[in-house]
Amino acid sequence: MNDCVFCKIERGEIPSKKFYEDELMFIIADIEPKAEKHYLMIPKKHYKLLADMTEEDAANLAKCLKKLSELAPSLGLGGGYRLVINQGDDAGQTVHHLHVHVLGGQKMDFPKL
Ligand code: AMP
Ligand code: ZN
Repeated sequence: MNDCVFCKIERGEIPSKKFYEDELMFIIADIEPKAEKHYLMIPKKHYKLLADMTEEDAANLAKCLKKLSELAPSLGLGGGYRLVINQGDDAGQTVHHLHVHVLGGQKMDFPKL
């Protein structure tokens, strides 16, 4: 997608702090961190919602999550981490390219919003 910020980052048209990349996804630092450690794990394929996934997309996302679990200690997330996938307007999704927020590096509570 030409005007998608995450596709632009993947193409190198917008700079980012990249921590990991493979054929399926890349992991960058969020520019507005909401925790001591705040990464975005971004599948390279552009789609907006979990509801848009093909079976192959779903299998690939599962592989990405497995890889993330292996990378977690080297990302400073050895004490645990939280994953958030905002879906649509009520969740406040601002970038319409599916991404997983990876939050950690601190103790977190779980407030009622
Ligand atoms: P969401 O609100 O779930 O769609 O999350 C989008 C996230 O992308 C936000 O946390 C933004 O801070 C982050 N973001 C937007 N532009 C960039 C960028 N150029 N580099 C890194 N993170 C970004
Ligand atoms: Zn995109």
